[in-house]
Amino acid sequence: MAAHPRVAIVGAGPAGLYAADALTFDQNNGIRVDVIERLPTPFGLLRNGVAPDHLKIKSLEKLMQRIIERPAVRFFGNVTLGEQIAREELLGLYDAIIYAYGAPTDRRLGIAGEELRGCVSASDIVAWYNGHPECLLNVDTFSASKVAIIGVGNVALDVARILLVSRNRLWNTDIAARALQHLMTYRPTDVYIIGRRSVAQAKFTPKELRELGGLEDVDIIVDAAELAICDSDAQQMADRSELTLVLETLQSWAERPQKNAPHRIHFRFLLEPDRIEGSSQVEAIRLRRMKNDGSGSILATSQYVTLNVGAVIRSIGYRGKPVHGVPFDSKSGAVPNEGGRVITQRDAAAREFVTGWARRGANGVIGSNRGDATEVAESILASLKPAAVFRHHTDLEDVLLARGVEFVTGQRWAQIDSIERALGKERARPRVKLENIGELMKASRMSSGTPSKAERSVGQEIPE
Ligand SMILES: Cc1cc2nc3c(=O)[nH]c(=O)nc-3n(C[C@H](O)[C@H](O)[C@H](O)COP(=O)(O)OP(=O)(O)OC[C@H]3O[C@@H](n4cnc5c(N)ncnc54)[C@H](O)[C@@H]3O)c2cc1C
Repeated sequence: MAAHPRVAIVGAGPAGLYAADALTFDQNNGIRVDVIERLPTPFGLLRNGVAPDHLKIKSLEKLMQRIIERPAVRFFGNVTLGEQIAREELLGLYDAIIYAYGAPTDRRLGIAGEELRGCVSASDIVAWYNGHPECLLNVDTFSASKVAIIGVGNVALDVARILLVSRNRLWNTDIAARALQHLMTYRPTDVYIIGRRSVAQAKFTPKELRELGGLEDVDIIVDAAELAICDSDAQQMADRSELTLVLETLQSWAERPQKNAPHRIHFRFLLEPDRIEGSSQVEAIRLRRMKNDGSGSILATSQYVTLNVGAVIRSIGYRGKPVHGVPFDSKSGAVPNEGGRVITQRDAAAREFVTGWARRGANGVIGSNRGDATEVAESILASLKPAAVFRHHTDLEDVLLARGVEFVTGQRWAQIDSIERALGKERARPRVKLENIGELMKASRMSSGTPSKAERSVGQEIPE
């Protein structure tokens, strides 16, 4: 039997699947790819991060699904590198490994009061409204009429929009059933989006920012004085047309008459979180006013602003975390690499690669992962061709079966997918996600014929 070069990709998010795409695009090149994923479901943040009302970007799942279905690709869901399988073992099983396991943890503010009830991370909120099976957020803590979001990137805009968008628009999305149920009765009156630095340092993209302007029953409140920028900021903006559009959008909102709408989004800049106040629950946030120093940096002033809010959401970025045995640079929060080749002391270096957020840190949209992934795949294809001696292969499937690990194959994922769609159909929605690992695994075990009584219980806990 001819030996086929085998590549393991760790992480079935956009970066991992773009790499699988590039490796198997030529279906005659003989390469076999195994995609190893911690969750029973593929697609990473495309399923569990991207806001449910971003239907166009969510529709990329169809493209990603076609990659998983290629004959040269196998999916191993519910398998975590560092737990069910070790890096050393993968090195023995595969000719090359691509780490594409993202950057899943959130950053903390590091101020007093962060432990109070009602102070949560945007990643928790995102996990909640996307039905992430490991979501820990207790939604009951989320009923504040005034909410502060710390951070001026697109995730902050997503969270503000989901909290305030008209509920009819959410129905036709795959938003988690529990989040939808809660949001049917909860819509805050005021959401503050707060940046520590000047608008010139905002990370919003113009399209996502402008989306907020179209929200029904929502006024956008911007204080023109807080949009002031210094000369050095202005120079920086001249090179970044997107930032100029962001500033223009905010300026136009500052001048626009208010509609006296029942809900408001307030944009605030040059305010640094100082402490969160409250006895057990968040009652307010105290912010220190900052000012431009004229050279593009900011200086603290002695003035403070207190906002009486019942919740604080920190949205100041995601960060990578180490995976057992794989090199990790704690400064950048990513796997150290040169052009996607992992930098390690070992001679295995030439066979280990990294792509996506695990490589660059948490930045860039889905499309930004394609270039990285293609580069890494090309390096691998070049190194495996043409006269490489392939090692003897034991199969990952046999290793996992021998160790009693229950993994989700591509076929079993297809079963989960069809059950979620069927649950959606019953409720006139595109999909109802199964929101915990047990339910997902139960669904993956179901045969595709008529469900048994036990099988029909899948999804029964999901609210109508
Ligand atoms: C809240 C949010 C909203 C976003 N919205 C948009 C948007 O609207 N449009 C857009 O273009 N981009 C958006 N992005 C950016 C986009 O999601 C990222 O660019 C992209 O998901 C990064 O891909 P990735 O594959 O590197 O990481 P991920 O998508 O995080 O995928 C990593 C995968 O690896 C798995 N994994 C982790 N550890 C292990 C392990 N030890 N073993 C096995 N598997 C493991 C994870 O479960 C996950 O499935 C958003 C990001 C966030 C956080």
